[in-house]
Amino acid sequence: MTEPSTDFQQTFDYIIIGAGTAGCVLASRLSENPAHSVCLIEAGGSEKHPFITIPAAVGCAIMSKKYGWGLWTEPQASLNGRKVPLPRGKVIGGCGSINGMAYYRGDGRDYDDWAAQGNPGWDYAHLLPYFLRSEHNPEFKDSSYHNTGGPMGVSFIPKPNKLCESFNAAMQDLGFPYCNDFNTAHPHGYGYRQGTIWNGKRVSTAGTYLRPAMKRANLTVLTNTSTRRILFEGSRAAGVEIQDQGGNVSTLGSGNEIIVSAGAYHSPHVLLNSGVGDSEHLNGVGVPVIHHLPGVGRNLHDHPSTYTALDMKDSTSYAISWKAMPRDIVQFMQYFLTGGGPMASNLFETNAYIKTLPDSDRADMQLVFQPARRNIKPFPIPVNHGYAVATVCLYPKSRGAVTLAGNDPLAAPLIDLALGKEQQDIDDLVRGLKLARQVVHHSSFGKYQAHERVPGADIQTDAELDAYVRETLITVHHPGSSCRMGNSASDVVNHELKVHGLDGLRVADASVYPRVPAANTNASVVAIAEKAADMILGIEAPEPLPELA
Ligand SMILES: Cc1cc2nc3c(=O)[nH]c(=O)nc-3n(C[C@H](O)[C@H](O)[C@H](O)COP(=O)(O)OP(=O)(O)OC[C@H]3O[C@@H](n4cnc5c(N)ncnc54)[C@H](O)[C@@H]3O)c2cc1C
Repeated sequence: MTEPSTDFQQTFDYIIIGAGTAGCVLASRLSENPAHSVCLIEAGGSEKHPFITIPAAVGCAIMSKKYGWGLWTEPQASLNGRKVPLPRGKVIGGCGSINGMAYYRGDGRDYDDWAAQGNPGWDYAHLLPYFLRSEHNPEFKDSSYHNTGGPMGVSFIPKPNKLCESFNAAMQDLGFPYCNDFNTAHPHGYGYRQGTIWNGKRVSTAGTYLRPAMKRANLTVLTNTSTRRILFEGSRAAGVEIQDQGGNVSTLGSGNEIIVSAGAYHSPHVLLNSGVGDSEHLNGVGVPVIHHLPGVGRNLHDHPSTYTALDMKDSTSYAISWKAMPRDIVQFMQYFLTGGGPMASNLFETNAYIKTLPDSDRADMQLVFQPARRNIKPFPIPVNHGYAVATVCLYPKSRGAVTLAGNDPLAAPLIDLALGKEQQDIDDLVRGLKLARQVVHHSSFGKYQAHERVPGADIQTDAELDAYVRETLITVHHPGSSCRMGNSASDVVNHELKVHGLDGLRVADASVYPRVPAANTNASVVAIAEKAADMILGIEAPEPLPELA
């Protein structure tokens, strides 16, 4: 490994660390003015691969070693010491290149809560214009909650799997309302959900924001390049130290600002490696302290989930099987000839977003229906037939942390999500699981003659379900709040996303959530990045839309 020189090899007005969902938006917006030089640094490489572009190949994208960081939690004390896998995209587009493509914003009151936590300008009325700015959604072209003409195409799956009808019928019979649009201010109910899928292909900020911007001479994109640390001159973030694939270390200067968009695990990782964090922790791992900021890496949380899965002989579900092989071949041809059919689906086509507690003022649980068998051993494509319902707890109480193992900036962060630490989270999942079981055994599924593989007939009491949840709990990959926005002693950025106590440095990605929104998180990260770009460029924020809130 070569040593970095003390002088910056090149200087840019703006340096963005991480070309994920947020970083691609920022690179595009900040380079719109040709007078600004922008450098985007990404640890991974190109996103141009069928695993990423074909929606039904999402399992292959998630499990690919090439496109992921291969992260796991530390042993989780409340989950019998289990380590839980944490897929994260290490590729242009970041997690947006491997995610499930569900398009969700959550309940508007979650954003009002952000503002109430001391973050003016982050309430729903102020954020809605940013959701609209990014959206191209002709299916709701007459709705004030939607827009056409934005970069991100959003659509329904044209022909959902037949099994979805049984899920919807069961939810209706259980007394829940039908919801035809999960992206209004207060969505509630069951129904088909939209995805960031357009013309049969995944839509991410890589293809929609970054790729067109890469034609600009003032935007430099460094791929397969890791940011080792941010370099400071006094309290000002003056540059970054980077390392390419060959191990060569160099430095880049920032004339204006550095924006950290490395995601919920790596944004705190980059700050900690740079000496910004809890001084006791940094001293303990041998990283020189630049600025004591104890909140870096803290407050981390994600949506925990468990599931019930059924097996069946009927071949209606999406799968590879001997029985389904002729159909699969036709569907494969259909996709390559027309771009349509089941391969243009993200497989998770219908769901419920519901209140399950009498005193909830908004949805507290998501039931995600999978019209496909949940494999026993990890495999990216469902093998043989069945269906499953994942139960997602939308307001987890447990809080974890990202810390460093030592002072090697390229070593993986230590990630302790403290999953199940708060009994409330386990109880929520037990409650959701009981409801999911009512759904999957509803008479609407009768004709499929499926049998429950898990939890299984032997697991019935609350104590047994509690134990089952602890054995199976995973996350649904929506981590955030590890560089939390706010003004308390454990917050990291202010409402302008500027790092407290430092100059020329912001964080803009899922790590700044004051609390993770009760929804899939890609859309809210895009909105954060859009708003961040306006703030960085000094562009006046759009008028709030209070009449909709
Ligand atoms: C498997 C999976 C399924 C999901 N499903 C959905 C879904 O269906 N719908 C939805 O709305 N959301 C979903 N999400 C969540 C959503 O995709 C994320 O919330 C969102 O992409 C986070 O964006 P980000 O910009 O914060 O981080 P990321 O997109 O993770 O971007 C961070 C980028 O920084 C890079 N990076 C990290 N460290 C460094 C470094 N030191 N130097 C240089 N580069 C670095 C990374 O390689 C990455 O490209 C899913 C996520 C996953 C992982």
